[in-house]
Amino acid sequence: MHIRSIRAKSILTPQRRGFLQTGERPFTHSLSWAAGCGLGKHYCGAFCYARSLPNWRFARQDDEAWGEALIVKSNAPELLAAQLARHPARQSLRIFCSPVTDPYQPVERKLRLTRRCLQVFAQYADLDLLLLQTRSALLLDDLDLLAQIPYLWLGMTIETDRPDLPYGPTRANIERRFAAVEQALARGIRVQIAVAPCLPHTDDFAARLLSAGAQRIVIDSFGSGDGRSGARTANSPFARKADYDWRDEKMARALYERLRLRHKGIGWSAAGFAGIPGRSRRPSHPCQQRRAAL
Ligand code: SF4
Repeated sequence: MHIRSIRAKSILTPQRRGFLQTGERPFTHSLSWAAGCGLGKHYCGAFCYARSLPNWRFARQDDEAWGEALIVKSNAPELLAAQLARHPARQSLRIFCSPVTDPYQPVERKLRLTRRCLQVFAQYADLDLLLLQTRSALLLDDLDLLAQIPYLWLGMTIETDRPDLPYGPTRANIERRFAAVEQALARGIRVQIAVAPCLPHTDDFAARLLSAGAQRIVIDSFGSGDGRSGARTANSPFARKADYDWRDEKMARALYERLRLRHKGIGWSAAGFAGIPGRSRRPSHPCQQRRAAL
């Protein structure tokens, strides 16, 4: 992995429209300490929409390829400390970490940027939400720290229970993620499992998701979740490999309906992600909302 370090000017990105602003309790900001993703050559890199976003396309140099290069904001923890210290509406911050890279990709073992950002968050008890979204069990290295942040939710992506898909995760990878969910819950950390995107799965998947014990489960499809009604996925390497009609949402909708009958915390796509209850009330006055977006 080629790593290019930069000194960024900002680390919390205000969300004014788009995926994270959809739903009852939208996110106010995203936090991404890298452009590119170290899991980009992993199975999910084949359908990942982050490779087509400006964050990567305009930041990369000609010799930097998706999944082989990472542009790292090496001063992310310092920037976060400064932004949180002076934020005029810190109590209403709802932060998604991260929509365009994985906070627990392999290089985190060396850089520990997620850990150092979490150490900053742990100094504040008054934010509304931090959703830490990952596909990696590396988060277990930080379990003590995660448990100290009262507004933190772990978002664990588990797209299928089938290890035999040519475009999906291995059995060991699936098991590691379910085990990480179990350990996080045992430490009192709230968990939202994201079946995103929903891949072909067995009839037992719904029961397995329910028995994992997460407070919330969100289901998403390629059509609803890639931000362009499936157009981004259509241009992805995954679309060339897939042996089923990934545009058909029926499978994902059926899983959603099955779960909804048996669990109160089930969400669909963007609105589901943005459905996590807050600790504080959202500012209701437009002036307050503008301040929260600064
Ligand atoms: S972990 Fe997420 S951001 Fe990284 S390649 Fe996979 S889908 Fe994309």
